[in-house]
Amino acid sequence: MTLLELAGVSVHYGRIQAVSELSITVEEGEIVALIGANGAGKSTTMRAISGIRPVSAGRVVFDGEDITRLRGDLRVVRGISQVPEGRGVFPGMTVAENLDMGAYARKDRKNLQEDLDRVFELFPRLLERRTQAGGTLSGGEQQMLAIGRALMAKPKLLLLDEPSMGLAPQFIQQIFRIITEINRQGTTVLLVEQNAQQALSRAHRAYVLETGRITRTGTGRELLADTSVKEAYLGVA
Ligand code: ATP
Repeated sequence: MTLLELAGVSVHYGRIQAVSELSITVEEGEIVALIGANGAGKSTTMRAISGIRPVSAGRVVFDGEDITRLRGDLRVVRGISQVPEGRGVFPGMTVAENLDMGAYARKDRKNLQEDLDRVFELFPRLLERRTQAGGTLSGGEQQMLAIGRALMAKPKLLLLDEPSMGLAPQFIQQIFRIITEINRQGTTVLLVEQNAQQALSRAHRAYVLETGRITRTGTGRELLADTSVKEAYLGVA
C-alpha cells in the first residue's frame, strides 16, 4: 500500500523555485532515501511533506487522504513525524522533557510509558542521561534525542533530514543501524541524506534530486552500482 505520494509538487520561496513538479511514492514498510547535492531541494521536499512549507502546485497524499492543504500540526496527528535538519532539540529541557514534547499531539496517551521504554531500548544512552539538559548532549546524542522525540508521536511515517550530518563516523554507523531497526519494528522511513553511500545501502529505494527535479530512481542497490551516481555522489570515478 502506498503510504505517501507526492504528485507534481512544486515549492517556491518567493520567485525561487526550489522544487519542480516532483513526484515520488513511499510504500508502507519501506525505507526510501532522497539523495542530492547542497541546494538540490531535499529539505524543501521534507518541509512540503510535513507542512512547514506550502506547495505552489501538485498534491500530497498520505494514507489515502489528500493533505496538501492540511496544517502541519494536524499532519503529526495523522502520523507524519519529522526530525528536522539540525535536530531542534530544546536545549534548556531535560532529555525526558524533550521526549515528552514529542508526544504532545497524541490522543492515546495510555501507552506512553511503553513507547518511552522502546525509545530507551533503542537509545540506552538517553536513559542514562534522561535528567540532563538537551543542550549539554553531544551532537550524536542530540540526533538520538531528536529521533526518539519523533518516535514518541508514534508516527506511521518518520521523516529524517540529514541524520548523519556533523556526526563522527562511529555515530553515523550507529544512527543508520538504528534507523534500520526502527523500520524493522514497523515504521516507514523517508530520509534525506548527503551521505549517499550509507543512505543507499540502507534504503529499499531511492530518488536522486538535482536542482529541484528527480533525475534517477531505483533500488538502493541499483543506484549504488549506477556509474553516474557513483561519480556524482559516491566519490568514485
Ligand atoms: P542542503 O543539503 O544544503 O540543505 P537541500 O537539498 O536540502 O540542500 P534546500 O534547502 O531544499 O536544499 O534548498 C533548495 C533551494 O531553495 C536552494 O536553492 C535554496 O537556496 C533555496 N532555499 C531554501 N530555503 C530557502 C529560504 N528560506 N528562502 C529562500 N530560498 C531558500
